Amino acid sequence: MQVEPEEGAPAGGIRHPPGTRRPLRGAASSGSKARPIRARGLAIGIDIGGTKVAAGVVDPYGSIIASARRETPGQDPRAVEAVIVDLVRELGRGRRIRSVGIGAAGWMDLTNGTVLFSPHLAWRNEPIRTNLEKALRRRVTVLNDADAAAWAEWRFGTGRGEPRLVLITLGTGIGGAMIMDGVLERGRHGVAGEFGHQILVPNGHRCECGNRGCWEQYASGNALGREARELARANSPVAQTLLQEVDGDVDAITGTVVTRLALQGDPVCRELIDDVGQWLGLGLANLAAALDPGTFVIGGGLGAAGQLLIDPARRAFQRNLTGRGFRPAANIASAALGADAGLVGAADLSRIRYRPLLGRPYGTAQPERFSERRRTGRLGG
Ligand SMILES: [Zn+2]
Repeated sequence: MQVEPEEGAPAGGIRHPPGTRRPLRGAASSGSKARPIRARGLAIGIDIGGTKVAAGVVDPYGSIIASARRETPGQDPRAVEAVIVDLVRELGRGRRIRSVGIGAAGWMDLTNGTVLFSPHLAWRNEPIRTNLEKALRRRVTVLNDADAAAWAEWRFGTGRGEPRLVLITLGTGIGGAMIMDGVLERGRHGVAGEFGHQILVPNGHRCECGNRGCWEQYASGNALGREARELARANSPVAQTLLQEVDGDVDAITGTVVTRLALQGDPVCRELIDDVGQWLGLGLANLAAALDPGTFVIGGGLGAAGQLLIDPARRAFQRNLTGRGFRPAANIASAALGADAGLVGAADLSRIRYRPLLGRPYGTAQPERFSERRRTGRLGG
């Protein structure tokens, strides 16, 4: 299935032809100078996690039409590349796949070809795109997983129609990404969006980044688990349900366990999530002061808590917003695409020909175009 951008489509937006199964609610971005998005054909998206590599064939509407997964084969880049090649061959059988997008935690350079740093994979300056394009003979794009997820939410999820969106993913830590007027905003060096390490509490909890008091030490799945374990260790009678859930093993209490109990109605777990939601809202108010987005989209594992998390976040956001009462406040909403967002966004971005959408490397040469490389024969066909 192919989608051509309609003549005169709004800048930065996408239109689907009449009669296709989804109405036009694309990522129109008013006032943007970005060109219409050309996302045609099928692409494969790959999400490399610490334990699993998930892959899916994504159509131009953001739907996954086939998927497969493998265990992450340790930290060796060559072994991970081999798994990616295997997944693409499996999913590509009998299908015309135009491109492959790969999302992973970490920092990618602005050409979307080299992994500068990846915490789960211990990769340092890995030129993963070159290796994979040789093996796969297709265009390959390498992205930060939060960037990919933000793109997916903006194109197909909660952020549709929002010109300025900030995605916050709450998992073990906090991931972040921004879409500004149709452009994935990645900063001067490609490493923007580390919102989780804004320092909210001087001399607060120690963070793996080397500092103390980072936002993600207060508003993440890990923070939720830590608070719950502390409560359980205090032998508080209010923590009885929590302790029963893990058969008395305090170390087994995680953010996921607390979220599950809270969704089942446990009042103490709801309180714990309420606290985390308030920290979330405080950090969002800081971000609003700096970035003034229209919508914050909240995703990640802890995002599953839904309104239990969003409501207190909204209250704290309103209470701490700079110049509150004299300015419009951003919307705070749950992500729509769940755990698939990274995969869908990586696939979608990989097939978009308008490279500057991936972020403009200010003051440096534009990323090389795939078609140019193909003309020079460097891909061997
Ligand atoms: Zn930190």
